[in-house]
Amino acid sequence: MEKKDRKKKWRENHREEERIRTKKWRKKFPEKARENVKKSILKNPEPSRKAKRNWNKNNKNKKHAEYLASKIQIPKGEMCELCKTSLAKERHHPNYNNPLEVMFLCVKCHKGVHFGN
Ligand SMILES: [Zn+2]
Ligand SMILES: [Zn+2]
Repeated sequence: MEKKDRKKKWRENHREEERIRTKKWRKKFPEKARENVKKSILKNPEPSRKAKRNWNKNNKNKKHAEYLASKIQIPKGEMCELCKTSLAKERHHPNYNNPLEVMFLCVKCHKGVHFGN
C-alpha cells in the first residue's frame, strides 16, 4: 500500500470513529446534544431569517400573480397546452415573477405540474 493511501485510510477510519463516538455521546446526553444544536442555530440565525424573508416575498409574488391571472380569460374551447387532448380549465404560472405569463392547462396536467406525476 502506498504511503498516501495509508494516510487516507487512517483518516477515513478516524472519521468513522469520531462519528460513532459522537453518536454514543448524543445517546448518552440527549439533552446536551439538543442544547448544542440550539446553540449552533442561535449562533447563526441569518440563513433561516433570510429564508423566511424570501418565502414571504415569493408568497406575495404568488398571490399577486394569481390575482392578475384570474383576470385572464381562458378562451372557450382552448385545449390544454400539455396534453392537447383535454379542455384547458386552469391557469398555471411557470414563473410568478411574470404574472401575466400563464399556461392554460387541464386539471389533470396542472396537478401533474405541481405534484410531479
Ligand atoms: Zn392536459
Ligand atoms: Zn400552477
